Amino acid sequence: MNRFEMRERLESKLTKKRFEHSLGVEYVSGCLAMVHGADIDKALTAGLLHDCAKCLSASDKISKCKKHGLPISDVELANPELLHAKLGAFYAREKYGVDDSVILSAIEFHTTGKPAMTLLEKIVFVADYIEPNRKPLPEIAEIRQEAFTDIDKSIVHILKNTLSYLESGDCGDTDEMSVKTYNYYMNKIEL
Ligand code: FE
Ligand code: FE
Repeated sequence: MNRFEMRERLESKLTKKRFEHSLGVEYVSGCLAMVHGADIDKALTAGLLHDCAKCLSASDKISKCKKHGLPISDVELANPELLHAKLGAFYAREKYGVDDSVILSAIEFHTTGKPAMTLLEKIVFVADYIEPNRKPLPEIAEIRQEAFTDIDKSIVHILKNTLSYLESGDCGDTDEMSVKTYNYYMNKIEL
C-alpha cells in the first residue's frame, strides 16, 4: 500500500480531528528526519500511521489485543488508551502492509517512549507532541526548537511535562515505561 492509499484508509478509520493530527505528525516526522538524518520515507509512514488504532473504544482496544494475542499489562488494563500504540503497530502490519520493523516499533513506542530509542522511535515520539494541530501546551515553543536542535533534550522536556501532568491529575497510573524513558534520557543529557 502506498501512502496515498494509507491516508485514504486511515481517514475512514479516524475522527476528523485525529486524522488531521495524524497528517501533522506525518509531516513533522518527515521534517525531523531531514534534520536528524533519518530515512524520510519511513518517518512519514510511521508518523502517518502512529494513531491508526486510536479511535476504538477502550473495551474494543482490550478485546482486539486479546483476540490478536497482544500482551496487556496491569497498567494498560487500568488505562486502555495506552494500548492504541501496540495495537497500532499490529494494524500497521496487518491492515496497511507495513513490514519494516523500524517503522513498526516507532509506532509501538510512540506513547511512552523507551530507554535507548532508535532515531525513528524518537522522531515519532517527539512529532506526536509538537505537531502544529496540538492545543497549546506549556513550554511548547521551546520544546519545538529543541526537537530540531537537540532531540534528546526535547524528549526529557516532553516527559517532564507529561509526567507532572499525569501526577497532578487523576488520569490513573503513570506508565512505568514513561518514567524509565525519562530517567534514561535525563541521565544521557547530563553526561
Ligand atoms: Fe497516540
Ligand atoms: Fe498521536
